[in-house]
Amino acid sequence: MPEVTKGVFFIPGQDEFIPDSHVYVIGNPGDYSIVDAGLMGKGGYKLQSLEKMGIRKEEIKRVIMTHTHLDHIGCLNEIRRQMDWLELWVHEKEAAPLEEGDERTVYGMDMFKGMCQMQYGLKPGDFKFKVDRKLQGGETLELGGMSWEVFHIPGHSAGCIALYYRPEKILIPGDTVYADFSIGRFDLHGAEAKALMDSLQRLGELDVDVLLPGHNRIVKGVSPGYIKKTAAQWGPYLK
Ligand SMILES: [Zn+2]
Ligand SMILES: [Zn+2]
Repeated sequence: MPEVTKGVFFIPGQDEFIPDSHVYVIGNPGDYSIVDAGLMGKGGYKLQSLEKMGIRKEEIKRVIMTHTHLDHIGCLNEIRRQMDWLELWVHEKEAAPLEEGDERTVYGMDMFKGMCQMQYGLKPGDFKFKVDRKLQGGETLELGGMSWEVFHIPGHSAGCIALYYRPEKILIPGDTVYADFSIGRFDLHGAEAKALMDSLQRLGELDVDVLLPGHNRIVKGVSPGYIKKTAAQWGPYLK
């Protein structure tokens, strides 16, 4: 599986009728973090991908969620069945609902919830988790010898974060901004168009060379001003 750059690995999502989020693995031997997990049923091949990359399970310490939508957190239970020591790190805004068993953010909307529960045999409470570390914007995480900055970027959901590795200008923005001038949807539970615009503008201030979004293609050699341009294009819809 591709190593994007030293200490950053990419496991592409395998979309079905619902998308499956990409997984990024960051860190170094002995201390790796998984960023996002993916959709239900998509844990197995991700674990196999890790093995193929030569990363042993024991070296993986935690899962950091960019946000807690079903396509990102759906297979966390599967992964944890094989790695029960994995810590879960989530922004505080989505940590509280997860701990209370409030699954509105996970499913996004009621109609979708009913559909997914039927399709996947999910039950209420399947996404109730203890959160080991509640993240905040503005902090820096020391992860396997790399310093990743946390940005709280609400809009797509209330507790979205981006992770930024300044030395190599790598941005992991979850579903807030993708390649090809697209952005995350802003009609689900906890979403807010104006906040999304604000978040895009803040991300637009960062120098980004490598964009590693939650879906679709990754971009190396991002053109200068790309996120600002994306924000400007969406301006009329994000008021
Ligand atoms: Zn999402
Ligand atoms: Zn997603």
